[in-house]
Amino acid sequence: MIPAIMPSYGKPELAFERGEGLYLYTTDGQRYLDFGAGIAVTVAGHSHPHLVQALVTQAEKLWHTSNLYRIPQQERLAERLVANSFADTMFFCNSGAEAVEASLKLARKYHHDSGREGRYRVISFEGSFHGRTLTTISAGANAAHKKGFGPMVDAFDHVPFGNLNAVRDAITEETAAILVEPVQGEGGIFPASAEFLQGLRDACDEFGLLLIYDEVQCGIGRTGKLFAHEHSGVTPDVMAVAKGLGGGFPVGACLATEEAALGIVAGTHGSTFGGNPLAMAVANAVLDIVLADGFLDQVQKIGAELGRRLSDVAQRHPKVIETVRGIGLMWGIKCVGPNAELGAKLSENGLLTVLAADNVVRLLPALIVEQSHVDEACRILEKSCVELEG
Ligand SMILES: *Cc1c(COP(=O)(O)O)cnc(C)c1O
Repeated sequence: MIPAIMPSYGKPELAFERGEGLYLYTTDGQRYLDFGAGIAVTVAGHSHPHLVQALVTQAEKLWHTSNLYRIPQQERLAERLVANSFADTMFFCNSGAEAVEASLKLARKYHHDSGREGRYRVISFEGSFHGRTLTTISAGANAAHKKGFGPMVDAFDHVPFGNLNAVRDAITEETAAILVEPVQGEGGIFPASAEFLQGLRDACDEFGLLLIYDEVQCGIGRTGKLFAHEHSGVTPDVMAVAKGLGGGFPVGACLATEEAALGIVAGTHGSTFGGNPLAMAVANAVLDIVLADGFLDQVQKIGAELGRRLSDVAQRHPKVIETVRGIGLMWGIKCVGPNAELGAKLSENGLLTVLAADNVVRLLPALIVEQSHVDEACRILEKSCVELEG
C-alpha cells in the first residue's frame, strides 16, 4: 500500500525532534552533528535565538497579506540585498526552482521587449542542477530527474562545465541567456574558475545575452562571500537565490539589474506567498547575522581550516577518499567506494552529510560552525574511514 507521503524520497529512517546550533536530536534522544544543514539551508544553525525571535515577533503581528499590499519587511530586505549586490531590483518567491524559473522568464521577456523576440534558448551545463519543476529539470543535466517526465521543455542547450569553446559554439540567433552555478552543488561541488565566469560574461556581452547565476546553493555566505561569484569579481545580469536566504524558512529570490528587468511591469509575474511577512522577517534576521562585521571573514577562515583537515584525512585514507574539493563551507569528498556507503557510515557515527553526484559526500555545515565542530566532524570521518577499511 502506498504510504500517505508519496514515496519520492526513498525511505529515510531518522526523525528529529529539535535542533540547537550545529546539533540535531532525534525523537529517541540521539544527538547528531549536522554538516548537511538541511541541504545548505540552515546557515545560522538550528533554533538560532535571533531567528526564532524574528519569527515569533512577526507571527504575533501578521502572517500573510499577499502582494496586493505593500509588505514593509519585503522592501527592507530588497533594499539590503540591493545595497550588498550587483542587483538593482528583485522578485521574491518560495523556493530555488521558482527563483530559477523567474530568472528564465525574465530573460525571455527582456529579449521580447527589446525587439529580439526569437531569442528564447538558454545555454546550461553538464552536471548542473536547477530544481524539479518541468522547466528546471529541462535546464538541469540530471538524466534521472528527466526520465519518464518527457517531453522536456525544448529551450536548453547543454555544454560541458568549464568549456568556453563549447559555450561559444552553442550560441545561435535564438540564444537568450547562459545559466550557470558559480559552484555546482548537486553535481558534486565544482567551483567555476574566475576565467570561466569572465569568459561567459564576455560571450554574453559580445552576443547580447543575459548571464544568469544560480546561487541557490552557493549564495548567502556559503563560500565566505555573500555571493559566490564575488570571489571572481564577475557579476551577472540575473541571479537566483533561495536555500540559505531564509535560514530554514522557505523563501527564494530572483535578483536582477535594472536593464535585465526592463520587461517586468505590473501583472507580468507573481506569487501568492512570495515575500510574505514571516519569510521576510526571518530573511532579514539571517542578513543581520551574515552581514555582521567579520562574519564572512570567519566563514572563510573556518572553511579553509575544514578543507585542510579534510585533505589530511584524505591523505591518510586513500582507499576510502579519492579527493576533496570545495570552497568556504561547501566541501565535497569524492569517494573510492560508493558515496552512499561513506554517508551511511558517517551517519551511524553521528555525523550528518548530504550525497551529491560524481560519487561525492557533501559537507555543508551551518555558517556558525566552530573549531570544536570541525574537530568533531574530522574525528568521525577518520573513524569512519578506518571502519570502512577494516
Ligand atoms: C536546491 C537547488 C535548486 C532548487 O531549489 P528548491 O528550493 O529545491 O526548488 C536550484 N538550484 C540549485 C543550484 C540548487 O542547489
